[in-house]
Amino acid sequence: MTAPDDSARTRPELVVVVPVFNEADNIEPLLARLTPVLERVAASHRIVFIDDGSRDATLETLRRVHAGDPRLTAVSFSRNFGKEIAIAAGLDHADADAVVIMDADLQHPPEVIEDFVAKWRDGYKNVFGQRVDRATDSHLRRMFARRFYSLFDMFGETPLPAGAGDFRLLDRQAVEALRAMPERARFSKGLYAWIGFKSIGVPFQVAERAFGSTKFSYRKLTRFALDGIMSFSTLPLKVWSYVGTVISMFALVMAVFFIIQTLMYGIDVPGFASLIVSVMFLGGIQLLSLGVLGEYIGRIFAEVKRRPLYLVGERIGVGGDAAENPAPARHGART
Ligand code: UDP
Ligand code: MG
Repeated sequence: MTAPDDSARTRPELVVVVPVFNEADNIEPLLARLTPVLERVAASHRIVFIDDGSRDATLETLRRVHAGDPRLTAVSFSRNFGKEIAIAAGLDHADADAVVIMDADLQHPPEVIEDFVAKWRDGYKNVFGQRVDRATDSHLRRMFARRFYSLFDMFGETPLPAGAGDFRLLDRQAVEALRAMPERARFSKGLYAWIGFKSIGVPFQVAERAFGSTKFSYRKLTRFALDGIMSFSTLPLKVWSYVGTVISMFALVMAVFFIIQTLMYGIDVPGFASLIVSVMFLGGIQLLSLGVLGEYIGRIFAEVKRRPLYLVGERIGVGGDAAENPAPARHGART
């Protein structure tokens, strides 16, 4: 979709970014299904695996598949940085006309990429897979997700398309927009929606995970959800001034009521219970609002430290130097 220029000759048409965390068993089954699709839909392609600090044989597997096919490349992190950051690293290392992001566990059917590419050729720059249901998730996780997305709808300043996730195709222009976003607390789903561009959903059925189990603990999911809300909404910060106003108005009315009561009926000693309850209630509200402030300040702190987003332990078949891999538009290098 971009005008052909000099670099277009070496630049593949399509790059697939696959974050992997302890997925040694899934890599080859994935390639077996993905490669034929890519051969069909793209003039040239490459796959960039982001090894997110795996502790199993993932890295060895990646080395082996690269030896067999140089188009299969990898970037290996020095430790686990999380899927969101792995995706960011993937985009940094994906110099192509279009980039597809997908999971390694075959929950994202590779055949859907054909539809993605067709839409891209029609001129869409942000083609997202839309899961038709969440049947493959556990009940608890589904409930968690529902709660989170309704909260995000309420608080978030960026509407998210229903059912959209990381499985998607991004045009070069959209990739560049994402690369220019410097934030550390990355909530990709929000970022994809925030950048805009001509977007369209392609419905797909999420498959069962091929091998292994989910790499997302509830702890990781909670952190992910908090990052999501806090990086796309400032309402949790502002709501306390309203709560505070309402409570102090109420307290004022109470005070007037008590004064009048005292003047009319004299001092009434009982009232201990209501006193304790209101003190505890206000104490709770104050701690809660302090906690919210803390969450934001913690994120501001993480941003101002300007640490690199990730550290690379090893690159397999992808350049780390400027010539092979142009420096990201972000301020400074990311490694
Ligand atoms: N993943 C990752 N880093 C993590 C957790 C997950 O790179 O810290 C990868 C994982 O290897 C997989 C994708 O992200 O390719 C989706 O993870 P998973 O299938 O565990 O999540 P779920 O499908 O349960 O949401
Ligand atoms: Mg999965």
